[in-house]
Amino acid sequence: MSRIYLVPIHLNAPEWLGRLRACIEKTFGIRAKCCSFPIDLPAAFDPARNQYSSSLILQQLIANPPADARKILGITDVDLFIPILTYVFGEAQLDGIGAVVSLHRLKNRFYGLPEDNDLMVERLMKESVHELGHTFGLFHCAWFGCALNASTYVEDIDQKSCELCPDCRNAIGLA
Ligand SMILES: [Zn+2]
Ligand SMILES: [Zn+2]
Repeated sequence: MSRIYLVPIHLNAPEWLGRLRACIEKTFGIRAKCCSFPIDLPAAFDPARNQYSSSLILQQLIANPPADARKILGITDVDLFIPILTYVFGEAQLDGIGAVVSLHRLKNRFYGLPEDNDLMVERLMKESVHELGHTFGLFHCAWFGCALNASTYVEDIDQKSCELCPDCRNAIGLA
């Protein structure tokens, strides 16, 4: 039986992992499992940008996937970038096995606002479903509330849900 692997990267036993796992299992109808892979974060650090390359983290994450891995989602709290963008909330291989998301810009603290753990977890669930959706071959979706709707700013994330719209569900055979 294939599984979606959830890999916290240098995060010790996060209390939200169970909620994230339940959300992913419900959304994609596939069992999820938490595990740890050794990830060398310093190797992905770019001193000129003071950020971490999401692509380099992704490469490490998918280097040796477990035999029953359908997807692998890494979760980190460092600030991620890809060369053409100032930052990214996450990155995924379109129609591939791997994705990575970051909590860094999902925390109110980053915006100078009082911390709200529930809100952070909701944002994490939305962005995790979003990036995993890409690994199932989904492109960005025009439906306003759909998790695959593109998010440039954290406010965009707050406008959407952690669920897939009927079109996206259909496209990956979940209808
Ligand atoms: Zn996207
Ligand atoms: Zn959609």
